[in-house]
Amino acid sequence: MSKAYQQSEAVKRRLEQVQGHFIAGHWLRENQQATSDVYNPSTGAVISQAICGTPAEVDQAVAAARSSFDDERWSGLTPAARAKVLWRIADLMEAEQAELAELEMLDAGKFYAAAEQGEVAFAAECFRYFAGWCTKIDGATKQLSSGPTNEFHVYTRREPIGVAALIVPWNGPLVQAAWKIAPALAAGCSCVLKPAQETPLSTLKLAEIMQQAGLPDGVLNVVLGDGPEIGGHLAAHDGVDKVSFTGSTAVGKKIIGAAKGNLKKVSLELGGKSPMVVFPDADLQDAADGAISAIFSNAGQVCVAGSRLYVHKSIYSELLPIIQEKAQAIKVGSALDPAMDMGPMISLRQLDSVLEKIHRAEAQGARLLCGGKLVQQGENGGGYFIEPTIFVDVNAGMDIATEEVFGPVLTVFAFDDSDDIVALANDSEYGLAASVWTKDIALAHKTAAKIKAGLLWINCHGIPDMAVPFGGYKQSGWGRENGYEALLQYTEQKSVIVRL
Ligand code: NAP
Ligand code: MG
Repeated sequence: MSKAYQQSEAVKRRLEQVQGHFIAGHWLRENQQATSDVYNPSTGAVISQAICGTPAEVDQAVAAARSSFDDERWSGLTPAARAKVLWRIADLMEAEQAELAELEMLDAGKFYAAAEQGEVAFAAECFRYFAGWCTKIDGATKQLSSGPTNEFHVYTRREPIGVAALIVPWNGPLVQAAWKIAPALAAGCSCVLKPAQETPLSTLKLAEIMQQAGLPDGVLNVVLGDGPEIGGHLAAHDGVDKVSFTGSTAVGKKIIGAAKGNLKKVSLELGGKSPMVVFPDADLQDAADGAISAIFSNAGQVCVAGSRLYVHKSIYSELLPIIQEKAQAIKVGSALDPAMDMGPMISLRQLDSVLEKIHRAEAQGARLLCGGKLVQQGENGGGYFIEPTIFVDVNAGMDIATEEVFGPVLTVFAFDDSDDIVALANDSEYGLAASVWTKDIALAHKTAAKIKAGLLWINCHGIPDMAVPFGGYKQSGWGRENGYEALLQYTEQKSVIVRL
């Protein structure tokens, strides 16, 4: 199965080390601390050990970030100088793309080609995009509304918010780290990042690259360890001015609670149960390809996954078999094997969670059109794989209609002209993303305007871009990543009123 893959010497050496915290420019990997296994989700094999930190190291990391912020070693640089460092980070990431992609493959179950051309390239571009913004942060001049305008000079300015805590999940470790680090640094903040325990490797390599690129020590710190203990301590820390979190809605709510103490600013990128709506005039091949990639890319472990597919009754019996055939043709297996199409669940825990939701859907009366089973892998049975799964005959009361699965599970509904399709699409506590499939531009835009979601695609699904704000309505989150909007979330706005 893994014949094609030969581990590089660089990765071999990296995995032999204990993965440590990166604090104030130094690696902390003392042996006496507790460690956790880092494993390859394609095989289940333990590939390295990572330090499992304590709150004391979080305190150290926050202190390092604070002192680097207070002495202005980063925020005090000219914006042009900050931009150069961010640009160099992108260049070095590209120079190291083979190793980064290999780490993302081994640790996060990404296919090598997709990691190299997708994840790594996209994460590098994120640093370039925000490099451009460093020199374009500005304020405005204002005129008093009820004072003598000519007696006063009034302006606003944007200042870095301070120390930013960045907590990321495992489903896109490098990209999600970049989406937070790059705007935070462009704004002039100092950071403490906690990767998911499942996927520390590419983030630690990124920290190394950032130091090589000339980022001053203490401006980026990485702490490793358990979510509630380390992430929780970081989110609650009085030395932190802002927390940006990506992950589950349940933990997002805990972050809000943790942030209460000092009322640090919070932004959240959470889960979804995103609808795709296919109208009768849609190009059915495009819609089928779109639906397949929307739900089965990264084995469905994608926050914007199109997990609810609404198909107009007049095309239902034509479109469904096309989608089913494509789903059944997907080759499921190790991300180390380039002949496969869909890789593993990140962990045994995630595998169990997805299988439990599949079994519950069946028990509640949903009809399994295809998939639904565990895929046995490899001579030693390693790896965490689930067949591409499609449910039909689902009604609104079933859990599978409303609950985020975060796995390769599609739920298909038929609608007709008597249904209020916008109300059906909006029938969710989430509001992250949606797509509308039709050639009728008026229908497309009118439907797009009414669906309550932060990201709306027309005749495509799941395309992100650095320039386009990304985030959710309702319980899908607070704030936006990407674009100038993301950068502003790492700033405070100050109004200055001058009496002349
Ligand atoms: P999660 O628990 O929300 O984890 C996300 C990050 O938060 C990880 O770094 C995690 O640390 C950390 N964390 C966990 N509990 C915390 C706490 N109390 N305070 C601060 N940080 C904490 O997500 P998960 O358990 O890995 O996945 C569970 C579900 O979340 C998935 O099935 C999916 O529905 C959803 N999810 C959504 C996204 C998204 O992109 N929106 C991404 C991943 C998962 P650990 O390393 O210890 O877990
Ligand atoms: Mg977790």
